[in-house]
Amino acid sequence: MTAARAWSPATPGLAPWACDPLASRGRRHAEPRAATRTEFQRDRDRIVRSTAFRRLEYKTQVFVNHEGDMFRTRLTHSIEVAQIARSIGRSLGLAEDLVEAIALAHDLGHTPFGHAGQDALDECMREHGGFEHNLQSLRVVDELEQQYAGFDGLNLCFETREGILKHCTAANARALGELGERFLARRQPSLEAQVANLADEIAYDNHDVDDGLRSGLLQLGQLDSIELFAGHRRAVERLHPGIAGRRLVHETIRRMIDELVVDLVGESRRRIEAAAVASADEVRAAAPLAGFSEPVRSRAAQLKRFLHAALYRHPRIDRVMASARRVVRQLYSAYAADPALLPDEHRVRVDVHGMRAVADYIAGMTDRFALREHARLTGEAAPDLAPADDGGASG
Ligand code: MG
Repeated sequence: MTAARAWSPATPGLAPWACDPLASRGRRHAEPRAATRTEFQRDRDRIVRSTAFRRLEYKTQVFVNHEGDMFRTRLTHSIEVAQIARSIGRSLGLAEDLVEAIALAHDLGHTPFGHAGQDALDECMREHGGFEHNLQSLRVVDELEQQYAGFDGLNLCFETREGILKHCTAANARALGELGERFLARRQPSLEAQVANLADEIAYDNHDVDDGLRSGLLQLGQLDSIELFAGHRRAVERLHPGIAGRRLVHETIRRMIDELVVDLVGESRRRIEAAAVASADEVRAAAPLAGFSEPVRSRAAQLKRFLHAALYRHPRIDRVMASARRVVRQLYSAYAADPALLPDEHRVRVDVHGMRAVADYIAGMTDRFALREHARLTGEAAPDLAPADDGGASG
């Protein structure tokens, strides 16, 4: 007979450096505990059921949403980030539900058309405090979602909000109170937040190679000098002579992801042990504890430089993004000049929040809604936003 094991609703196997949901710093509006879920599970569930989360399906990651059914969108990107982040989190004994909640929420504030949309909106908002998608993710969960009777936003735990806010200017940090303190004190966020942030990089570095090749904007040969890719490609070709096409790309990329994840887990463990942290608060006071070993970090940096030059700045992507910036600028000008063009519930917010309410409305748009609205307001035909050769044609 074995003794019955005590069961606790807390995440099993939490390491001392993890965020314990039972020790959360709590929510902005006090709520009774859930009967069957931890507080971080509950945050994850609130994020998945939010309007902003569903809109991620129709927002650009790199390729504009409707140009091909095979490319990543913000939604599938966020799901891939969550998957990678959970694997790393579990290996490090972290609160997996928290890691997942942060990963799923990290891009909720993204404008339509990816970084081009954010840059255009930031420019439009220059006189009104600017626009920053990461800070906007926090606005979405703190203020903009309208789901609950007792409060605006999703009323998430401090730890989830801390993880969503990756960077912040000193001025914004001062305005954010408790959440902004760490930027002023130059402290780290929890390990769960650090891991979700690095999982974001692992996800996009790899899926952008995949989508870049699929789109025809990148060619396999261009990656011969990129060590992280080329090394694994050679290994795949040795193991599977004659392999080519999508299978070669996929086998190579899955090995890249594996190498990055295994390295990150090993290096983070080493740092955690060396720092001898015994609590989540000691993690916050230490140097960053999640990270890659130096050789892997430098090979990942080489891949990033390549993606910037060859894909993100590809002339065809540039052309699409210039049109996207124009769409966002013209939407902003139209609403700023005449707030009566906004739907009622947004127009009344302009009286209270000024141009921030216009930015909130535009930031919430999906790519296709922004294009429709732009056509409606300007009478212009929608710009052609398809840089890819065969998006959706091949599997
Ligand atoms: Mg992301």
